[in-house]
Amino acid sequence: MSLNECPNCGELAKPNEFFCQSCGTALTRPDRPRTKEIRGYIQIIGVVEIVFGIVGLLVSAFFGFFAAFIPALMAEGVLNASDGALTSQTVATFVAVFIAFMAIVFVIFSLAAILSGIKLMQYKNSGRIGTMIIGAFSLFVIPVGTIFGVAGLYILTKPEVEPLFS
Ligand SMILES: [Zn+2]
Repeated sequence: MSLNECPNCGELAKPNEFFCQSCGTALTRPDRPRTKEIRGYIQIIGVVEIVFGIVGLLVSAFFGFFAAFIPALMAEGVLNASDGALTSQTVATFVAVFIAFMAIVFVIFSLAAILSGIKLMQYKNSGRIGTMIIGAFSLFVIPVGTIFGVAGLYILTKPEVEPLFS
């Protein structure tokens, strides 16, 4: 497909022509294949972001479950082996609260990633902004998150991307 094909009649136009010589249709700038390519990348980023969010929710559920069972394990004496300055009960409670807190933070990020991915795929500006924020945080999740973050931020900060979003 030529870069300067008339969208109405298919007549080929020269790069400097703004109207089709055959039917008079106004011609868009010859950037359509490139825009199509970028739209493809945006859809891939959205899908990957949603998949990350779902995996994040599963990981959160696992840790939340684990945190909930620490007091039970403690009661069974499984975690009662230490005789340090802190009692094992204090340590177990601290660990349980910490893991539960991390699980909640993970749930929030995972839900934000799923929502941003959906909005991104619908070309909503909130999805673009949200994905850039998620992408920035993802940079620290080596290696998969780093790859996603770099690719996502690279694509979404391209000047031709912003006009695609409402
Ligand atoms: Zn035409």
